[in-house]
Amino acid sequence: MSAERLGSHEAAEIRELPFQEIITKLLALSGDDVFESPQKFLIKGPVTAGGLRQLTQLPYEIGITELNGELILNTGQEQLAAHHGDHESAKRFYTSKVSCHTHTVQTYGLYSNGIELNRPSEGDVENSWLKARLAPGRPSILVHPEGITAFVAPSHLMMQLDDESQRRYEEISMQVNEKKRARKYEGMSRLERELQKIDGIIVEHVDWSDAEKIDGIIEKYINGPIRKNK
Ligand SMILES: [Zn+2]
Repeated sequence: MSAERLGSHEAAEIRELPFQEIITKLLALSGDDVFESPQKFLIKGPVTAGGLRQLTQLPYEIGITELNGELILNTGQEQLAAHHGDHESAKRFYTSKVSCHTHTVQTYGLYSNGIELNRPSEGDVENSWLKARLAPGRPSILVHPEGITAFVAPSHLMMQLDDESQRRYEEISMQVNEKKRARKYEGMSRLERELQKIDGIIVEHVDWSDAEKIDGIIEKYINGPIRKNK
């Protein structure tokens, strides 16, 4: 029911709050509460690294997109960056100047026996094809427990890789398969990101530990595009 309300009267449902206050509010709600009543906020002021990282602790995904020059934060659900009834937010991922979503410790951890998906999912990559058409030149941003990753629709096909890239791709693929066979998933996302870099899907990745570069990637893809008078 609340989903339909969001759908038809989106503007009326949006509350304006500073980023950190939004996070405090969300952390105080249970995942079930948020699923029953999806939340939507206009973010007052900039998005911060510390806040983004906290969002990866929530039991559902979060979306951040631009609407009329402002950043909108919407709650999603397990493995969905927008609640299934929130079509406006879902649509904005394709068209907006800012297209950011989270993968959390809990949503992918619970689903796949403790494996975190610290890279764009297959679904994310599929969606990036439509984004490339509707908002060309604007990478999507994934915020996850290991860091922040900017990605686009894949630009290369396997056949177009040069010999060296081809060799590296095969070598890393074998390591990934070996981890899967042994059910030892540590470092798996890092290897999978290497493959996605070779595929031209990942254009930039920064670990949380690199504070300066983290601030840079947030400015470039989230705060920067909506800053006025620039
Ligand atoms: Zn995703």
